Amino acid sequence: MAKRITHNLFKKARKYLVGGVDSPVRAFGSVGGEPVLLKSGKGSQVVDYDGNKYIDYVLSWGALILGHAFSQVVAEVRKAASLGFSFGTTNKQEVELAGFIHDAIPVCEKIRFVNSGTEAVMGAIRLARGYTGRNKILKFEHSYHGHADYLLAKAGSGMATLGISASEGVPDSFVRNTLVVPWEDEQLLKAAFRKHGKDIAAVIFEPVGGNYGVIYPNLDFIRYLRKITQENGALLIADEVITGFRFNFGSFVYEYGIKPDLICLGKIIGGGLPVGAFGGRERIMNHLAPLGEVYQASTFSGNPIVMRSGLATLKSLEKRKADYGCLNDFTSGLVQNLQAEALKQDVDLQVSYFGSMFSISFKNKVDFPRFYKKLLSHGVYFAPSQFEANFVSFAHTQGDLRKTVSAITQSLAYLKER
Ligand SMILES: *Cc1c(COP(=O)(O)O)cnc(C)c1O
Repeated sequence: MAKRITHNLFKKARKYLVGGVDSPVRAFGSVGGEPVLLKSGKGSQVVDYDGNKYIDYVLSWGALILGHAFSQVVAEVRKAASLGFSFGTTNKQEVELAGFIHDAIPVCEKIRFVNSGTEAVMGAIRLARGYTGRNKILKFEHSYHGHADYLLAKAGSGMATLGISASEGVPDSFVRNTLVVPWEDEQLLKAAFRKHGKDIAAVIFEPVGGNYGVIYPNLDFIRYLRKITQENGALLIADEVITGFRFNFGSFVYEYGIKPDLICLGKIIGGGLPVGAFGGRERIMNHLAPLGEVYQASTFSGNPIVMRSGLATLKSLEKRKADYGCLNDFTSGLVQNLQAEALKQDVDLQVSYFGSMFSISFKNKVDFPRFYKKLLSHGVYFAPSQFEANFVSFAHTQGDLRKTVSAITQSLAYLKER
């Protein structure tokens, strides 16, 4: 496969961008070789700068649930762009999108739009701290909530649940108020609350883990989180930046009757444009400025083009809300074929999946890069790390499924050629 234009572009990218990218996993560090650089996309298909086509399971890291360049969304974005890009005032689409989200997730009585999932989480945490007058937050090991300093924390040694910095440039003092507990560990969670309960402003969690491979939701544990936070006067923040509108038309946890105090959204609700939002009970949200004393602001928040893209996306999704099951069927079909083929070809791998998200990890570490590159050469684009989730969109067809299974079969067979 010729990769001349892509190759030259990446060479230039490396000259001007750090590592040739603007976000680390894009560099293909864990699979090696040069990354795929995509020029265009339509539906489930993306095309690189050399004209090679791929069936896309990255979907802008989960944002594009309707697939690429969905016609209604494109039309709305065009209209919005022709009316001016940004005013920094409240606009009609912003109000409508907030109303739409409110109707789908009634616990979001009030909403604040921001520009990314990271900002949504930062806003929700600041609000929780302001509302409760407490400083500590509790997160879970291996969960990802964006790149705010105090969330780049990992568990300390042994029973010490106080976090330590997980990135250079983040002083330990910045994560001193972050507690880190292993997911699903009720005992350590209880211990953390026993020790720090009166200082814990909020517990933040991912309902379905999407950043350490796909982690199957544990509803009992999430219900326990609701209980222990309530008992201790802490807020429960559901980070639904991936899961919001991914498995059903709205919040994943709310669908199961679990009502967090605050919900963070992002990815899907912008239809592929940069967005974030957080929402919750009015009595909590009203502590945000201008009604309250918790400061939160941004030049581009509620941008009319983004809001219009998000609104067109949610309107189209609402029409399909009875069809989310098709995404799950596609995914389980893909996963079952993958598992059966791995068994047949004696490749030791593990597939984790839930709804329309899946991830694969190979027992033998060197297998993933080899499998991955072969898969690419057969026109299938998976996330370039075993820790990243893959996604299915409404644009994926049965034809895509057949082609993907065939590519998987050939790529697994290739692993045996040593
Ligand atoms: C992607 C993600 C974020 C961060 O969102 P950005 O838009 O990348 O800032 C936060 N939380 C979760 C669960 C995510 O998957």
